[in-house]
Amino acid sequence: MSNMEGWPRVDENSPERCGGSTGVGQCWNQRVEGSSYCPVHGGGHKLKQNKREKYEAWQLGQWNKQVRDHADSSSLHALQIGIGILCKTLELTVARCQTDQELVLKSGPISDLTCKLSKLITESQQMSMRLGQVMNRTEAMAMAQSIVTIIGEEVQDSVVLERIISRIEELMTHEATAGNETG
Ligand SMILES: [Zn+2]
Repeated sequence: MSNMEGWPRVDENSPERCGGSTGVGQCWNQRVEGSSYCPVHGGGHKLKQNKREKYEAWQLGQWNKQVRDHADSSSLHALQIGIGILCKTLELTVARCQTDQELVLKSGPISDLTCKLSKLITESQQMSMRLGQVMNRTEAMAMAQSIVTIIGEEVQDSVVLERIISRIEELMTHEATAGNETG
């Protein structure tokens, strides 16, 4: 029985025709992309593989889109998603190798994935450090500004006010420099 519900059938001379044979001659089913046979005649494995590859390509595409869509702090989140996907892909790639020989054959993609992964991890670490610094500094500046406003409202002596403001500015500059040195 070569008939499969929902699977396309082709014309007699179609290059897409399955090479398998049935009791009544050559199979009329369409071959699986990348295989000479339909799923009934041994193309099933290839079909599964195609779907998996397509799914992984789709996942990576989604991740790329997320990175493009987020230009601010959420690109850190996108990077982390990317790391997760690459980890999963790497895991799947290694898990699929059942013999040493298969592992050797896959060493190209594996080292490629590992390389991309380490790049992404470095990038994400740098980004989270950068974001952490930017946020602390912004928060500190906002706080200093509020303090200066309150002092300005309370202190009437302009000389004293100038001195307070200049001391706060000094402190902020010093903090920023110290922060850059340690970061
Ligand atoms: Zn067939």
